[in-house]
Amino acid sequence: MVNKKSVAYSVNQSQIILISNKSEILKEKIGKENVFDFSIGSPSVYPPKELNEEIMNVINNVDPIELHKYTQDLGLKDTRTAIVDYLNKKYNLDESPDYIYLTHGASSALSITINALASKNDEFIVFAPYFADYNVYIENANSKVVVVSPDKNFLPDFHDFKKKINKHTKAVIINSPNNPTGVIYDESVISEISNILRKAEAKYKHPIYLISDEPYRELIFKDMEYPFVTKYYDNSIVIYSFSKVISIPGERFGYILLSNRMADKDEVFNAIKGSGRALGYLCASTMFQKMIPSLLGKTADLDQYRKNKKLFEDMFDELGYEYVKSDGAFYLFIKSLDEDSVRFSEVAQKFNIFIVPSEDFGVKGYERVSYCASEESIKKSYNAFKSLKEYYEAQKWKT
Ligand code: PLP
Repeated sequence: MVNKKSVAYSVNQSQIILISNKSEILKEKIGKENVFDFSIGSPSVYPPKELNEEIMNVINNVDPIELHKYTQDLGLKDTRTAIVDYLNKKYNLDESPDYIYLTHGASSALSITINALASKNDEFIVFAPYFADYNVYIENANSKVVVVSPDKNFLPDFHDFKKKINKHTKAVIINSPNNPTGVIYDESVISEISNILRKAEAKYKHPIYLISDEPYRELIFKDMEYPFVTKYYDNSIVIYSFSKVISIPGERFGYILLSNRMADKDEVFNAIKGSGRALGYLCASTMFQKMIPSLLGKTADLDQYRKNKKLFEDMFDELGYEYVKSDGAFYLFIKSLDEDSVRFSEVAQKFNIFIVPSEDFGVKGYERVSYCASEESIKKSYNAFKSLKEYYEAQKWKT
């Protein structure tokens, strides 16, 4: 008999994986240039040129044993210090390298953190729409997912948020810029979340952690100061990944950073190290640990994402698709033309368009369109989106 939960996670795959697999099959059949695959969030622009330079640099200059050996479980002190120094300078913080744990991307960072915090009957609050795998990490840690509804701008509905906090609330997970909407939480939103949590901590007399999942932190397409969460809330934990910002999702590299002002930071950090061990996520890639200090502050070509976003927005404006106005990550959230957004995604596939229904993210009525695709494919998809719209217009006349 195997672990039933693990089987369920494997069988009940997220729509993103299923849809992306379907698109791969069609690409083999009819050629990838004829398939408009906007399903997956895998970067489509080259990493910064410094990445290859740095790979060659470490290969040529670091002793191979040093380059490929195990590091300490939490990572090399030099790398942790370089990351924290960079953050302190950029965001004017006073964080400490003693409270950063290097990970295999944001996925393992989330899984480690949730597992480190969770005890029986704990609840983790998430704001819909949200990254589907939060469910897996929370349920696997024997805790409960509590979903807060969005307001009309896809920001948290604060009224609902206050109602959902109770004595079992262990942590709240936020994700800005957001997958799937692209919406960014500005300073006022982070302040409001922090104020609500401080009051709840006082009422229930225990810490409530704010976990900020930030793989899209640099993918912001308007002028704004990023409100770094540790400045606003003491019991905060930052989850980061280099997957999107320098286009290395396959390399698996990220970190967990605890606020230096967290009252029980030593206990929590110990739990994180233990959780990393229990889940088998220790010693992130040594080669990347050696390289990352030279890559801090570098990004893939964000102008290409800006361009892709504009191409889609112009196309959707012209064809009459409604979408959520947003300035971050690399996703647009369009309104489904069908009352059933799962069916809409299936109908879109008949036009060789692959997009993800919003049910995967805990809300109804929308589709996630990922614009980390090639510019050519976005341009070429115009006729397919036009035909899809016309198909639904024709249905209206029939009823
Ligand atoms: N969190 C969010 C919101 C994401 O969108 C993703 C990946 O798409 C992850 C976490 C996981 O990222 P990683 O590649 O670093 O594991």
